Amino acid sequence: VPEGHTLHRLAHELSELFLDRRLTVSSPQGRFADGAALLDGSRFLESHAHGKHLFVTTGWRRQRFLLHVHLGLYGTFELLHRRRGADPPAVRGQVRLRLLAPGAVADLRGPTACELLRPDEYDALIDRLGPDPLHAGEDGELAWQRIQRSPSGVGSLLMKQDVIAGVGNVYRAEVLFRHGVDPFLPGRQLAHAVWLDLWSDLQGLMADGVRIGRIDTVRDEHLPEVMGRDPRQDRHGGEVYVYRRAGDPCLLCGTPVSTTVIDGRNLFWCASCQPRGAGSMAG
Ligand SMILES: [Zn+2]
Repeated sequence: VPEGHTLHRLAHELSELFLDRRLTVSSPQGRFADGAALLDGSRFLESHAHGKHLFVTTGWRRQRFLLHVHLGLYGTFELLHRRRGADPPAVRGQVRLRLLAPGAVADLRGPTACELLRPDEYDALIDRLGPDPLHAGEDGELAWQRIQRSPSGVGSLLMKQDVIAGVGNVYRAEVLFRHGVDPFLPGRQLAHAVWLDLWSDLQGLMADGVRIGRIDTVRDEHLPEVMGRDPRQDRHGGEVYVYRRAGDPCLLCGTPVSTTVIDGRNLFWCASCQPRGAGSMAG
């Protein structure tokens, strides 16, 4: 499942390819045919992300159109540079939306959402989402307000998009490990100082993710070459402490990494480095 950094990266890449270009828009699969017809011929004005939601604004004369995309579990947005003047590549698979401009093509497949929003619908959607650590200057205060009132575990709360927008399973597990926080600690027992550390660390880790296109969460002193261990072999790539390392020795203490399912998703943690109650106001 793409985490927030993927959508911010996509927003940047779409802007690089299409900014100020006039778009040829289609829905080869047909399920977004009406929307595509409205967008066709409009100019790409901007794109941005909030959490796992991607938005593209286009314009035609004074009209503005706002496209909303959520990739969900299986969606992909494939971006290609192509030679100017070359024929568009053949459509492969179920392409919901195709954006074309000289030198660029973007194919959206399998999204959970691909729709046009009115301004009030956009505002309502943003209101339902928590703050996004990748937005410059965002202090996360609204997330803290929600966490400090909740009896749910911190590990569960970090995944809720109405608490924090954009954090997924990898960042959730890794940021809690990096600060030695018990994932089952109720939000209302989390110490404010620990929260501030978690938030600023998420800002840094996710910004790294946008930059390198991969989730790396291991501090320099725990890199494979420093510790003399083998690099991680995993289709997710990236060096991590606990994510998908169930049963493997913790990189810091050697305790086998634990896993359990919460809210339908696998949680990973080290029971020694993140003991019960760790991160609470009591210490
Ligand atoms: Zn450990």
